[in-house]
Amino acid sequence: MSQSREITVTKSSVPIGAVIALAAIFAFGLFVVGFDQGHLFSMIQGAEAFDQLYIHELTHDMRHAAGFPCH
Ligand SMILES: [Zn+2]
Repeated sequence: MSQSREITVTKSSVPIGAVIALAAIFAFGLFVVGFDQGHLFSMIQGAEAFDQLYIHELTHDMRHAAGFPCH
């Protein structure tokens, strides 16, 4: 008498390293979008970056969705 058994083990675990990396990228992105008022480009462009606000304008709707007021 022979028996055969099949056991299927499914593991679905989220890699914690990826979660940490994505959270860090998200936090950095939110910082850049939320608090840059021309400061990043002013390193290259000088004072006129404070008038042009490229990152601010490009991410305007996302800024408001994230709760940052500006006008
Ligand atoms: Zn606005």
